[in-house]
Amino acid sequence: MRRFALLLSCLAMLAAGCSRESTPTPASTPAKPAEAKMTVERDEHSYAEADKVAITDLALDLKIDFDTKTLSGTATYTLDWKDKAAKQLVLDTRDLSIDKVEGEDAAGQWQPLQYGLAKRDDILGSKFTIETPAQNQHVRVTYTTSPEASGLQWLDAAMTEGKKLPFMFSQSQQIHARSWVPLQDTPSVRYTYTAHVVSRPDVMVLMSADNNPKAERNGDYNFKMPQKIPSYLMAIAAGDLVFEPLSPRAGVWAEPAMAKKAAKEFEDTEKMIETAEKLYGPYRWERYDILVLPPSFPYGGMENPRLTFATPTVIVGDKSLVSLVAHELAHSWSGNLVTFASAKDGWLNEGFTSYVENRIVEALYGKEQADMESVIARDELKEEFKSVKPEAQVLAQKPGTEKNPDDNSSATIYTKGAWFLQFLEERFGRADFDAFLRGYFDHFAFQSINSQQFADYAKANLLNKYPNKVTQAEFDAWLYEPGIPPTAPQVLAARFGVVKTARLGWLGSGQLPPPAITGAWSTQEWVHFLEGMPKTLRIDQLTQLDGAYHFTGTPNGEIAQRWYPLAVRSGYTQANDAIAAFLERVGRRKLIIPTYEELVKTEAGLELAKQVFAKAKPGYHPITTGTVQKLIDEAKPATAPATATPAQ
Ligand SMILES: [Zn+2]
Repeated sequence: MRRFALLLSCLAMLAAGCSRESTPTPASTPAKPAEAKMTVERDEHSYAEADKVAITDLALDLKIDFDTKTLSGTATYTLDWKDKAAKQLVLDTRDLSIDKVEGEDAAGQWQPLQYGLAKRDDILGSKFTIETPAQNQHVRVTYTTSPEASGLQWLDAAMTEGKKLPFMFSQSQQIHARSWVPLQDTPSVRYTYTAHVVSRPDVMVLMSADNNPKAERNGDYNFKMPQKIPSYLMAIAAGDLVFEPLSPRAGVWAEPAMAKKAAKEFEDTEKMIETAEKLYGPYRWERYDILVLPPSFPYGGMENPRLTFATPTVIVGDKSLVSLVAHELAHSWSGNLVTFASAKDGWLNEGFTSYVENRIVEALYGKEQADMESVIARDELKEEFKSVKPEAQVLAQKPGTEKNPDDNSSATIYTKGAWFLQFLEERFGRADFDAFLRGYFDHFAFQSINSQQFADYAKANLLNKYPNKVTQAEFDAWLYEPGIPPTAPQVLAARFGVVKTARLGWLGSGQLPPPAITGAWSTQEWVHFLEGMPKTLRIDQLTQLDGAYHFTGTPNGEIAQRWYPLAVRSGYTQANDAIAAFLERVGRRKLIIPTYEELVKTEAGLELAKQVFAKAKPGYHPITTGTVQKLIDEAKPATAPATATPAQ
């Protein structure tokens, strides 16, 4: 996934599991295999007892009903019984109504099974226990989702780009798959799946599976995902979607009005795949397509296998935000191929992916671009760590650190994780470190692992193989200590020096930098220009900036994310209409939450936040709604209206 905003709220966590898949290790593994940890860890965010029985295949047969905003049908599981004494199959659910549960007997007949749905836990949902005294190899559940399913968003036609057809899409990470399929909803369990989905005939349906670019729009679709995936990579979308090819194996799905624009912005996708393959071995998922969602998508992107879900807010016309595609593509190795066994090891997915993303950006757009992105991320980390509890700054987190897996510190798992790998790269040298990572992806391909397994593998294949480069103590400090270790390599972005000079010059003299300089600035440079501003500016200063750069009303969400909070803090109410329009149009949490956070600090701001939220809510995803609602509910606005403090 691409960055959720800071310490926001919403859902629950997973827990690790134990069930390492017995996928054969490719012969190319460079050194001796890491020792498998045989201890069984239960995923604290799942009720599944995967050490007793595990789902190995899922067959879905579902109907999409836009009128009732529900999915209904059956889920049929193929089960691998590991504990011969086990008599129950325990699944995760949230807000599902279960109509029927059956097991297939030895004669191939479906017989009813007893089951119980426990009281709903706010974070984990309802434990679903099926009595299976005969250890049936196949079990089938007939169910219907709730219109409020936390993992699905239903948009009326009016909320889409084309305004003709309704839209529906899923977001299963971290633990929302259970709100639309009863599952062992833990990344420690991997399974293949097939799906037969029917819908109204005028919408196209896609899944994280073998989508056919030439599929006929007829309301009856079949899918197959032949590789084993964890539950958080289950994905479905339906709407007025058309396909634009990018290369023989890559393309874009989007609403008709957006498709060509998106294809242009993402035209380097094939080059990105080739770059990643050169570094880390073949792309193993056949097709790589990108689905552009409506602006309400709560995240930047989601690495659903074969079909990345992406926010349209990165389509800004100059490719300056396409590192999002590099990120989601990188997950095809780090995350989808080698998967964290529980959310407490989130850095194994996101830290590795952020590192690989940066390598792809460097290869395609140059080191300066890659360095600017690193500097922005690390500045964010330093800011975020001021308020993150120490135990949540640790990469290999202890169980119980976060009750809700959506509360994980993104600074820790994304940026500190990537920084650790950059440290290793620098100490061991790029050539040896690249070979190590490639071997790591091969060795653990299609498995779910924890931080300890990574540490054991790195000890054997890096620390011991190339002695005297990194001590065990230095390595462990990165993995098990809070904060940023003193060994962290620093990155300087040369182009940011110019930006800083321009900003300081303006703050000192009121003289804006010449257009010859700012005319060539990319999104990252504008972001850096704004991020270095004092906490508040005077109204005349904001007016001057707006006159020159038109920040208020910017179509660029990354700039809006920095400009509007500054405007709110400074009492620049001239921007209020544009702020309201932005918050109503976009539902991506990272972009809008900083503005809501500033608004709720004053009475007048809170009032505006409430008004905007009331209008925007029908178009927001449940994940975004939960976050904003919490901010408003917990607001403690200052009684006096905000006044601008003169910048020094
Ligand atoms: Zn990610």
